[in-house]
Amino acid sequence: MKMTLDELTGRIQNFKKPKSVCRCGHLGDGELSPHEDQIHGGYTLAQGHGRCRSCACDKFTWVRWISEFAELVDLRKEAIDAIQRTSS
Ligand SMILES: [Zn+2]
Ligand SMILES: [Zn+2]
Repeated sequence: MKMTLDELTGRIQNFKKPKSVCRCGHLGDGELSPHEDQIHGGYTLAQGHGRCRSCACDKFTWVRWISEFAELVDLRKEAIDAIQRTSS
């Protein structure tokens, strides 16, 4: 079953789970991430971009997407390419 570009965009925007993997191997951004939020002056700057609660990692560093999210990103790229092929 093929998802449309709009469906894929919606899935990506509504992806609430942590989707980024840190150099420490734990997950970053998203709800219930082991990384704390990055706080500045009492305000959250970036969700899940602070210290890791599961190890000594002091700052989230992006390495890759989890495969479930990477797949959505790839499918969205394909959907965009398909639209551009038919419109040119
Ligand atoms: Zn980390
Ligand atoms: Zn960690």
